[in-house]
Amino acid sequence: MSRFWSHLVSTLDPYVPGEQPRIQNLIKLNTNEHPYGPSPKVIAAIAQASDASLRLYPDPTSLALRQAIAQRESLDAEQVFVGNGSDEVLAHAFQALLKQERPLLFPDITYSFYPVYCGLYQIAHRTIALDAALAIRPEDYLHGDAGGIIFPNPNAPTGRGLALDAVERVVAGNPDVVVVIDEAYVDFGGQSATLLIDRYPNLLVVQTMSKSRSLAGLRVGFAMGHPDLIQGLDRVKNSFNSYPLDRLAQAGGVAAIEDEAYFQQTRHAVMQTRDGLVEGLGALGFDVLPSLANFVFASHPRRPAEGIAAALRERGVIVRHFRHPRISNYLRITVGTDQQCGQLVAACAEILA
Ligand code: PMP
Repeated sequence: MSRFWSHLVSTLDPYVPGEQPRIQNLIKLNTNEHPYGPSPKVIAAIAQASDASLRLYPDPTSLALRQAIAQRESLDAEQVFVGNGSDEVLAHAFQALLKQERPLLFPDITYSFYPVYCGLYQIAHRTIALDAALAIRPEDYLHGDAGGIIFPNPNAPTGRGLALDAVERVVAGNPDVVVVIDEAYVDFGGQSATLLIDRYPNLLVVQTMSKSRSLAGLRVGFAMGHPDLIQGLDRVKNSFNSYPLDRLAQAGGVAAIEDEAYFQQTRHAVMQTRDGLVEGLGALGFDVLPSLANFVFASHPRRPAEGIAAALRERGVIVRHFRHPRISNYLRITVGTDQQCGQLVAACAEILA
């Protein structure tokens, strides 16, 4: 607290990102990063862009990147917005589209940045409880009282996904408000709502290159939707930062979209490792929620999650534990390489023995 802070700043309850430890050789399964590096073509594109042209500002509209995304998704560039990570894209969506008189709705267990944006932008909101199996119930979002709706699909940190027809029911049932589907993890087995964009002008789909394209360090996120929604995001962006994506991020982002083969190969490798991880944890007695993401959400009937997380850490493995009462007995474990997941399962076996 400082007397120099604005009133708003003194009321904020900021997001706390997962730990990025400085200790070497930890098995880091706590922030849902991809275990394999980005496409070699991305590294080459960034190296090529690292020249004297860095003295110049980047393209403020990131047109080449928006065109590459649009082409892959069979959209127009006017239906695509890009930002400095999907966190920035989401922040602009909260301010531009989800701040309305009636409350914004999102699940009680979800990405913990949503309530933080509500605090920053003073957005009225109401949380909707997940069902007993920690799943989103689409019917709960059909009462006609929302000012806007946002949820991740698959949801985080549960990893559970909704089928496309369930997402469509929510979008179609709320034609007068914006529904944002945060698809940070969709490429690990979920069904994307991008297929619905041409039919629903109230749908905004947000994705990121941080997870399935292994570029968390480059900070590239994007949104797809009706041009009116994109223009709303642009108005906020151009009232905030004209150049959110630097030259290297734009070049690397284009290369990442263009290397479809590498994308397919590495996302399938992660899904395959996930199957083995689920099996390994199941054999130790863990209850593991069905995951369509690059992480699993697991609890053990006999041992408190917080204690397991601490014991794993002593063995050089870090996973994420949340203090929220409904999920305080769960661990969120990122799918790493086969070897990392094997070491995690072996460490759990030792701890539970
Ligand atoms: N949405 C969800 C559900 C997430 O878990 C994350 C990662 N913390 C993000 C969005 C933001 O990812 P990024 O800013 O790296 O694109």
